[in-house]
Amino acid sequence: MEKKNNGYEQFKGQSRLPIFTIPKRYDLKLKPNLIACTFTGIVEINLEIVSETKFLVLNASQLEFDHSSIYFTNSKSKEYRPSDVNLLEEDEILVLGFDENLTIGEGSLYIGFKGTLNDQMKGFYRSTYEHNGEKKNMAVTQFEPADARRCFPCWDEPAFKATFKITLEVPADLMALSNMPVIEDHSDGNLKTVSFQESPIMSTYLVAVVVGLFDYVEDHTPDGIKVRVYCQVGKVNQGKFALDVAVKTLGIYREYFDTAYSLPKLDMVAIPDFAAGAMENYGLVTYRETALLYDDQNSAAVNKQRVAVCVAHELAHQWFGNLVTMEWWTHLWLNEGFATWVSYLAADSLFPEWNIWTQFLDETTDGLTLDGLTESHPIEVDIQHASEIDEIFDAISYEKGASVIRMLQSFLGPECFQRSLASYIKLYACSNAKTEDLWAVLEKESGEPVSKLMNSWTKQQGYPVISVNFRGNKLEFEQSQFMSSGAYGDGQWIVPISLCCGSYDFRKNFLLQAKSDAVDVMELLGASNATNNIVEKGNHQKWIKLNVDQAGFYRVKYDEELAARLRYAIEADHLSATDRFGILDDSFALSMACKQSLSSLLSLMSAYKAEHEYTVLSNLITVSMKVAKIAADASPDLLDFIKRFFINLFQCSAERLGWEPQKMRAIWMQCCEARF
Ligand SMILES: [Zn+2]
Repeated sequence: MEKKNNGYEQFKGQSRLPIFTIPKRYDLKLKPNLIACTFTGIVEINLEIVSETKFLVLNASQLEFDHSSIYFTNSKSKEYRPSDVNLLEEDEILVLGFDENLTIGEGSLYIGFKGTLNDQMKGFYRSTYEHNGEKKNMAVTQFEPADARRCFPCWDEPAFKATFKITLEVPADLMALSNMPVIEDHSDGNLKTVSFQESPIMSTYLVAVVVGLFDYVEDHTPDGIKVRVYCQVGKVNQGKFALDVAVKTLGIYREYFDTAYSLPKLDMVAIPDFAAGAMENYGLVTYRETALLYDDQNSAAVNKQRVAVCVAHELAHQWFGNLVTMEWWTHLWLNEGFATWVSYLAADSLFPEWNIWTQFLDETTDGLTLDGLTESHPIEVDIQHASEIDEIFDAISYEKGASVIRMLQSFLGPECFQRSLASYIKLYACSNAKTEDLWAVLEKESGEPVSKLMNSWTKQQGYPVISVNFRGNKLEFEQSQFMSSGAYGDGQWIVPISLCCGSYDFRKNFLLQAKSDAVDVMELLGASNATNNIVEKGNHQKWIKLNVDQAGFYRVKYDEELAARLRYAIEADHLSATDRFGILDDSFALSMACKQSLSSLLSLMSAYKAEHEYTVLSNLITVSMKVAKIAADASPDLLDFIKRFFINLFQCSAERLGWEPQKMRAIWMQCCEARF
């Protein structure tokens, strides 16, 4: 009996495209009409048929097709016209059915189409700007995660990498930009045809086109890459800071990844209407104006940091994301987590005076707060369909993702981590990789069980609190899942423990692989000046701080003896700002989860009387306000005591800082007025 062909319906409801065809090269021509807000296009897709088929199935959505324009030619120039053309909007696929089998081998698919320049800020969309008092449209693309299909029919999944040869027909007075440099610009009356150089192989979500009126500033890297910042006419001065950051950052990453930036140019464009903060399109990064432009005269200092970190984040993707691309959206957390972490590394190297890692703590503490909730989720979640990405991908994915990467880098050491990253980029350049591929490279380079370790952090939600007790000669460690509700969870992790004893020069790293473990302190630390008399009770010189510089994604609960030593170390200003911040943050979280008494928290807080670092002081004020509120609600008779306690706590800082700078005054006043 002959098997019945069940037609195009077999492709409905599938999470991914069938793989009997692989696209190799797109020759894409687009003609936007900025007045009517429409566009027309023609695409020729060179592809390889890897198994005989009567169907070509690719992504398309919200496009109209001229059926007579659609045909396929095989390598012998035999032409096939589809007998059946179905756009399945629900699945966002275009199914072309042919009467005869298309045989294995190369061929070309031709499709003519048209669409609307929408106002949804995705696909091919319109943004507006004012020029000489007149409102005008520009045309912009935003394709990540799965909206290239709204601009042209394509195999719109990150693993279907191909080259792109793009040609735009636009009004002659406008600029046309794409991923690659212009090779030909030919005017004919009011219109011009702009052809771009063919790209290296890349994923569809990174293709970009911008058409509008812009000014630009330009510079070159020492190795000759042309870098430009495009912005609204009259705003070029505001683009200079980002330009400078970009040129330097390309140099930093070239060295870090030991691989040159892979395109001949890098353009960065400020777009008036933009959904995200920025988008790392290959060679044509688009930004919301506030993420790219910095006005020396009128912008706040914090905007300068935002621009630097944002530019560094998008440029990191040019290697980690664009050159090496995730195989599927399940691995998006790694793409974003890595770019977020490395952007701080670059910003720190450019502006060491900013102490930017102290601000990275905001990412970590936000992540810890969210991930302590029962309704959190693992950062690595199987994504079946591109439409699920938006609901799964949230602050936990970004902030915990970046934090666990920092933890891993800190555990393996910066040199080993960098070496592994450079090997990984070289190994998977122009290709796709999964999360486990990176772990495998790191594991090989370091000899540590990276996959097992990282899976425990990425595939389960939550994180541990490490209780540490100093008993006899032993340090006892026990992990349990931290839940902000105070409930008990059954999660268990492989925890990279770092600890310093008495000085930052004396540091040890080890893995806590079981639920609990005890180590002989002399065996762990060795006999030296640092460990002299360490076991002697009340020896305050010999403080022990776990999770050095808060590089780990966990909390620590110290026993009485260790907590007392740390209070002394804080008072004596022996600890870094990040550690002072972390000890306070952990203690507050533990108190709120009823895992530690309020009096232990207050006793710790009193050690911060001489605090001078803004980030720590600001956190101290936040904690004070929350404690005061709880005290007022729970036992109003305590409020008087708490009030005196906080006045005493902040008096010293307030007197020392005076009422300047304004920011401190504002927070201090807010604290006083709101609570007392
Ligand atoms: Zn990103």
